[in-house]
Amino acid sequence: MKKLNSMDLYDIRSQLTEEECIVQDTVARFVDESVIPIIGECFENSRFPMDLVPLVADLGLLGSTLEGYGCAGLNSIAYGLICQELERGDSGLRSFVSVQSSLVMYPIHRYGSDMQKDRWLPAMARGDAIGCFGLTEPHGGSDPSNMKTHARRDGNEWVLNGAKMWITNGSIADVSLVWALTEEGVRGFLVEKSTPGFETPEIEHKFSLRASVTSSLFLDNVRVPEENMLPGVAGLKGPLSCLTQARYGIAWGAIGAAQACLRELIGFTETRELFGRSLNHNQAIQIRLADMARRITTAQVLALQLGRLKDAGKLHPTQVSLAKWNNVRMALDIARDCRDMLGASGISTEFCPVRHMLNLESVITYEGTETVHQLVIGKQLTGVSAF
Ligand SMILES: Cc1cc2nc3c(=O)[nH]c(=O)nc-3n(C[C@H](O)[C@H](O)[C@H](O)COP(=O)(O)OP(=O)(O)OC[C@H]3O[C@@H](n4cnc5c(N)ncnc54)[C@H](O)[C@@H]3O)c2cc1C
Repeated sequence: MKKLNSMDLYDIRSQLTEEECIVQDTVARFVDESVIPIIGECFENSRFPMDLVPLVADLGLLGSTLEGYGCAGLNSIAYGLICQELERGDSGLRSFVSVQSSLVMYPIHRYGSDMQKDRWLPAMARGDAIGCFGLTEPHGGSDPSNMKTHARRDGNEWVLNGAKMWITNGSIADVSLVWALTEEGVRGFLVEKSTPGFETPEIEHKFSLRASVTSSLFLDNVRVPEENMLPGVAGLKGPLSCLTQARYGIAWGAIGAAQACLRELIGFTETRELFGRSLNHNQAIQIRLADMARRITTAQVLALQLGRLKDAGKLHPTQVSLAKWNNVRMALDIARDCRDMLGASGISTEFCPVRHMLNLESVITYEGTETVHQLVIGKQLTGVSAF
């Protein structure tokens, strides 16, 4: 019988098209050659690997599902595989690509003017311009309807005031998509770096996503021209539609982080000798490894079906909530269990589980906390909003 791949027990690979396989293999090679050798040092020194951005761009990974403007026009399964392979390297790099692609390029492509698209999309696809997405505010991210950041029209300009917090890429961004309350509801504004009154200090002392930049955004009478407002959307459906795209990628990405942990553990338990035999000869160890494989396999099947629904134009945001919740919880539990099975070595970044575990503490919180996604599904089942 054909030997099974321990990282793909249900042979998801056989369900992929030739193009999807090529995308996965290309990104996997990039991660093995260029990300894994350096990412432990980046994490320890809290350094975003900026030098990888041109390589990521050359591979067509920025705005990869968008059509035109130098973007690759790939399908959703391919985008999912990109996220999976990148997050096998580190959640920080996947977060960079998610924010650039799903939270900034996607809304400009979908809701922006021709001028905004021409100005930003080709440069962002080339990695020459970096974007960030400012929705969360210091008083609470789970309830964006309680937005305090506001914009007031003044002649041909908008004047923005307020603060955003926990913003990925904030201080390295050339353009920030800032969501602000106006008289006509929530609108998206493109705020360029070095606009007077706009500050983007980096948030320090993070013990998670250390290889990723996280910042605050402060807006003190920031003036942007009328043409910097996204004309195509008003209301919270603007930012929420972007989050659905990004959460979809996270559901795939978490699988990569879990695979990296399990792969490392299988090797460790084979070579670790305790009580006169390899660790992997113990039933208690095998049961834990088997449980990880079960959970990864379930997450893979779920992600593949989610991708098919998305490519068929039938995706419902509740389905994305279920997948984000299930897959990130799966990865976090696996990373923690792998950390434990490594013994003392598990607390060292010489091994990947502790880094993935710490990263996944952010991933389970951002783009809707686990609780928020559970409440989305609760609402679907009962018809009652319990937020
Ligand atoms: C590393 C990192 C990067 C991030 N990047 C970005 C970014 O690029 N852009 C951006 O806009 N945001 C970003 N975020 C912010 C993230 O989306 C928010 O942290 C998240 O939405 C939760 O908001 P909060 O932290 O304010 O927690 P709160 O909303 O204050 O929630 C606190 C706790 O209350 C729980 N809770 C909330 N409501 C309920 C309820 N009704 N019932 C029961 N429990 C409830 C939550 O689940 C949570 O456990 C990032 C966060 C991190 C950590």
